[in-house]
Amino acid sequence: MKERITRLFKFDALLLKQGWMKPAYVGVGVGGRIVFLSDHAPEQAHGMESVAGLALPGFPNAHSHAFQYAMAGMAEKHQPGTNDDFWSWREAMYECALSLDPEQIEAVAAMVYSEMLRRGYTHVAEFHYLHHDTQGHPYDNIAETGERLLAAAEHAGIRITLIPVFYQKGGFGKEPMPRQRRFICAHPDDYLKLLDATRTVVSKSANAQLGFGVHSLRAVTAADITTVFESGPKDLSFHIHAAEQLQEVEDCKAFLKRRPVEWLLENLPLQERFNLVHCTHLSDTEVKRLATSGAQVVLCPGTEGNLGDGIFRLKDYASQYGSWCIGTDSHISLNPFEDLRWLDYAQRLTTHKRNTFDDAATVFLTKCITGGRKAMGLSDHNFFEEGKPFDAVIFQSNTPLLNMSREEHILSSIVYTCDAADIMGTIVNGSWVVRDGVARNSTAIRNKFDRAMKELSR
Ligand SMILES: [Zn+2]
Repeated sequence: MKERITRLFKFDALLLKQGWMKPAYVGVGVGGRIVFLSDHAPEQAHGMESVAGLALPGFPNAHSHAFQYAMAGMAEKHQPGTNDDFWSWREAMYECALSLDPEQIEAVAAMVYSEMLRRGYTHVAEFHYLHHDTQGHPYDNIAETGERLLAAAEHAGIRITLIPVFYQKGGFGKEPMPRQRRFICAHPDDYLKLLDATRTVVSKSANAQLGFGVHSLRAVTAADITTVFESGPKDLSFHIHAAEQLQEVEDCKAFLKRRPVEWLLENLPLQERFNLVHCTHLSDTEVKRLATSGAQVVLCPGTEGNLGDGIFRLKDYASQYGSWCIGTDSHISLNPFEDLRWLDYAQRLTTHKRNTFDDAATVFLTKCITGGRKAMGLSDHNFFEEGKPFDAVIFQSNTPLLNMSREEHILSSIVYTCDAADIMGTIVNGSWVVRDGVARNSTAIRNKFDRAMKELSR
């Protein structure tokens, strides 16, 4: 028997993989799953909420370090004559990481998650390594900080895949530095214990899932990366940073005699569960083998641009049908369309052509939703389907450009011209979590964030 509709929406249009459904009736059942989806109204349509908007699937944000939001925009004044780069930025980031207590971690995370929702992200993959107290000792509850991130996500109303990651070393063959002490698990068993404790707290949260992973090749010994992957869960998505910086590639070649992605391709069975974050610096062979492996590349163009990492070879990778998605990483940029435009424009600027991806808006949206959901540990057939949670971002139909746009141009108008100002609201589990620019629990979240930031600036 079909589940009863508890809430019914009518949208001007809703995007499916095969194109726009116009109009679109979405019935939601208990728990927020779609139980009715059609361009015709159901028989019992009383109480229907008519929305003058265009529904897109909620965006997956496949790579986040929530605590770094506390320093977004604060590392942008560069001293003339100094060599500010990724590595000097990292020192500022370590300082930030060392200063936050669990309460502040939760406050900052709730703020950035709430801001993600305002921009259309409905699911965040939190790549989490701020495990221990400021002295580097495990908390009594070893999953304390993970639990805080879950609480932040719950309060803001965003879906979360929490990925506690293994961080062991200070670089290739180097012991960890004192300022990395909050991140460190000395042995794979310590990490697996932390992962188990995190699994328990995740299981108590309705909108949370677990992932696992390793910070990077420079942060864990090669042998222990293999151990953790092989003794870890067989059903979870696995995340790792790879080849973000040229120096990291050179160090890896010197230490492991392989480039980072080359090492991963040779030593781990890369397939759909794998999510390699950045992959900025790839050889031709790595592009080809990675594209055919089924693994996702998680691109964070806002952060990669901000840190001067380099440009991912998206044209080459996409021409070989590689899977990819996006993440906001340090949160210097939180607008999914800004990140998608960065990806396209970097290719246009370097090839001096405009048609790198044919119908780029459709290609980009499909990749970032499909790849992003895989990175979260989910599978899908379509953007919206019966039985799946109703998570969507709704654009106002009547903005000057969208109102006058012909159907075949609507999606590109959204991708290339829109920002948060054009968003009417965001829906998670069939309920508005942002409406007319106002996010759920926004006053409480903002007050706690302001208080935390004041404490941190003392
Ligand atoms: Zn990262």
